[in-house]
Amino acid sequence: PPGLHIVATPIGNLGDITLRALKTLAGADMVAAEDTRHTGRLLQHFGIDAHLVRYDEHGAAAQRPRLLADLAEGRSVALVSDAGTPLISDPGYRLVREARDAGIAVHAVPGPAAPMAAASVAGLPTDSLLFVGFLPPRHAARVERIRELMAVPATLVFFEAPHRLAETLADLAGTLGPREAAVARELTKRFETVDRAPLGELAERYAGTETKGEIVLLVGPPAERGEIDEAEVDALLAAALDKLPAS
Ligand code: SAM
Repeated sequence: PPGLHIVATPIGNLGDITLRALKTLAGADMVAAEDTRHTGRLLQHFGIDAHLVRYDEHGAAAQRPRLLADLAEGRSVALVSDAGTPLISDPGYRLVREARDAGIAVHAVPGPAAPMAAASVAGLPTDSLLFVGFLPPRHAARVERIRELMAVPATLVFFEAPHRLAETLADLAGTLGPREAAVARELTKRFETVDRAPLGELAERYAGTETKGEIVLLVGPPAERGEIDEAEVDALLAAALDKLPAS
């Protein structure tokens, strides 16, 4: 059907492509992709012969008018990113917005997304999630952003590059104090791992190590007001006992 279709693709395991994604990609007049070579390989794997056009972060402003014109003429465009759901820390936001403003139909073809996959297996509370995306790469800006998030009563979900994981864990532990967190690596792939522990412990574990692969980092919500940590109670009791005069 005409309109703009936002199509999710696998985040590692090709078996995660959906039937609707395949149908939509095969039926679209054109497939707009972040990286046409990367998406070309995906389409080839599934035997889909599509007209690929580029829609990436750098060229988006220049590429958008052409796509919107094609859409306005009644053609169907499927937007994909390199992996997962477009627009989730990936290009597409302005295209969707302007397509909607122009009265063009925009349809979701949902599927894999690393933040949701990570939240579903981390073992942290999921009743309220805040997807933060990437933190600023530099220490000062990163700490400032973490401070802004400090009081948010939700599990925080971040993307992080492997070479920055140790620094980010240190900043999170230093700023947020004792909270549970999880590092979800290489989800749906051969070396998938999920590592859940208190932030401080994770920071120590990853300090000075070189991590590889794709990572989603999750930090559990702050302790509720009035909720007391058992270890904290033990420490307070021990300190109080120390002060009691020996009888
Ligand atoms: N739009 C994508 C999605 O819906 O998952 C996310 C795009 S963002 C540019 C890429 C980041 O997602 C990676 O740097 C990594 O943090 C995370 N990511 C992607 N695939 C992953 C996987 N298989 N396991 C863990 N994290 C992944």
